[in-house]
Order: sequence, then structure tokens, then C-alpha cells
Amino acid sequence: MISDRKLKLGLVGENIGTSLSPVLHRILADEKKVDIEYGLYELNGDLESFIKQFKKSLFTGINITKPYKKSFLEFVDKVEINAKKIGAINVLSLNDEKINAYNTDYWGAYQALKQNDCKVEGRTVIVLGAGGAARSAVYMAGKYGASKVVIVNRTYEKAEKIISDMKKYFTNSFYCLTYDEFRKTDEYKDFILINATSVGMKGFLEESILDDEIISGASFFMDMVYSPNISKSREFASGKGINNINGLDMLFFQGLRAFEIWTGLTFDAIEIERSYNTFVNFVDGESKVYN
Ligand code: NAP
Repeated sequence: MISDRKLKLGLVGENIGTSLSPVLHRILADEKKVDIEYGLYELNGDLESFIKQFKKSLFTGINITKPYKKSFLEFVDKVEINAKKIGAINVLSLNDEKINAYNTDYWGAYQALKQNDCKVEGRTVIVLGAGGAARSAVYMAGKYGASKVVIVNRTYEKAEKIISDMKKYFTNSFYCLTYDEFRKTDEYKDFILINATSVGMKGFLEESILDDEIISGASFFMDMVYSPNISKSREFASGKGINNINGLDMLFFQGLRAFEIWTGLTFDAIEIERSYNTFVNFVDGESKVYN
């Protein structure tokens, strides 16, 4: 699949100026000695024009971020099965003038937990939020064998809709609760807690989504937020002695899988480790910028 020409890649979304995706894909391209250009494309809702441009300019692939993970679905030719079930896409690939769509976020979330020795199989997974990222996390928990999956969201109907979609594909136990209901129950113990809300993001609502009642019973916390590196929610979790990670590992792994889709190349364990370390070291070095 890989050609000799420079691969044209990029990210579409809103407020993407400080995205780490260009750095990540530069690192992956250097590892595989592939020539790429990776651009940032701020969209103002005109998806159709972008799709025309995508085809005309012979892009190889595009990452999609907020708020377009669902809306691009109607413009693509084929949706890969996991993405179809999740109902959200974060990767487009152009092959023979046809646009294929994928979701690599769910796999990124799973790999991030695995990388940090957090096993999903047989566990209870609690997901805060019911947007695109939450859909990927809930699907991940269903696919990788969580025994119970609970969505806690401000807008109850959105959580209910995810659950009715997931029940078509999985036999795990799915539940949804409001924040107040979740605070009051002590039914869940030793669970993996995932923040898939936008709370904590720099420039959005730089607060903690966690409080004493929400964290009570958690044994691992993954905040999908990675900017700032250490969010208020992570500070809160650390203060309670709960092992926690940010969204950087998820970002790395979703990007790795996207790069493999675009190029047809696969990374072996040594290449993954080297690229991962380069990426994490870069972000550590830049932490003053990202915090
Ligand atoms: P989204 O579709 O806009 O969903 C945002 C969710 O956050 C909604 O469910 C919303 O609740 C909830 N929310 C917003 N403000 C809230 C508040 N004040 N209190 C409680 N809940 C609140 O966004 P998304 O695409 O799912 O992204 C969510 C987060 O995940 C973002 O921070 C994004 O950067 C991150 N993310 C990280 C990665 C990664 O690789 N690390 C990948 C994907 C996404 P309602 O439903 O009630 O409106």
C-alpha cells in the first residue's frame, strides 16, 4: 500500500492548534522512514467541501476529532465494522478514490490500559460522559470482556442510547446512571473509572470531574484528557492514592493504528516501544507548553 510519494496526512476538527498529532505522526513516520506531511485543518462545518478537497488533493489519510467524529459518517464510502458499531469515526483513508472510515480510539483506550497493567476482562468499567469518546470506551469495555459497564452522564438519554446500541452487539451487563444516582450507590467496587467528558481540558472547564463519592470504589483512573498533562481530576485521584493515567497513551495507540491503516505497515514491539518513548519524552520536554 505504501508508495514512494510523500503521504499527505492531517487532522480535521475545531480548536486543534495545539494538537500533538503532527508530532506523533512525525515520530511514527521517522521510525518507518516514510515521507509524510501532516497538516492541521480547522473546519467550520463545511464537511462536503473538505471531502472534495480530500479526494482532489490526493490525501492518504485524515484523523478526525471533535466535533466531527459522527458527522463525517455520511460522506464516506465504507465504514469498518468496529466503527459502524461504535457509531463514531476518527480515521479516514483514501484508496482508489474511495473513502474508508475507521475507529481506532477504542483500541487506543484498550492499549492504554494494557500498557499500564490494567486488565479489563472480568472487571467493572465506569465511563463518565456519553459523547464520541465515551462510545469508544464503552465499546472497548464490551469487546474486551468487562463484566459490567456503567455510563454516568449529565444527559441521561444520551447514555441510554449508547447502551441500547451496545446491547445489540454484546452480552455484558450495561447500566446507566445520573451523577446523583452514582454518588448514592455503593454497589460498584474495585472498578476502572474513565473520564470521557471534556471536563478538565485546558481552555474548557479546568475542574475535576471527580469528588469523594465518584471516586469511591475506583481502583484505577484513566482521564482521556491529556492537556494539561496532569488534570485536576488526576490530582484528585492521586490525592486519594488511586493509580491514574492521562489520555496520552490512548492518543499514542489510536495514532499508531491509524498510521498502520494508512501505510499498510505494522510496527513490531521494539518499534512501538521506541516510538512510544520518543513521543512521551517529547511531551515531557514540552510539558511547560502543554500544562
Ligand atoms: P463530546 O462528544 O463533546 O462529549 C463530551 C461529553 O462530556 C458529553 O457527554 C457531555 O455531557 C460531557 N460533559 C461536558 N461538560 C460537562 C460537565 N461540565 N459535567 C459533566 N459532563 C460534561 O466529546 P468527545 O469527543 O467525546 O471527547 C471527550 C473528551 O475525551 C475530550 O476531552 C477529548 O479531548 C478526549 N479524547 C481523548 C482522546 C485521546 O486519545 N486521549 C480521544 C478522544 C477524545 P452531556 O452528554 O450531558 O452533554
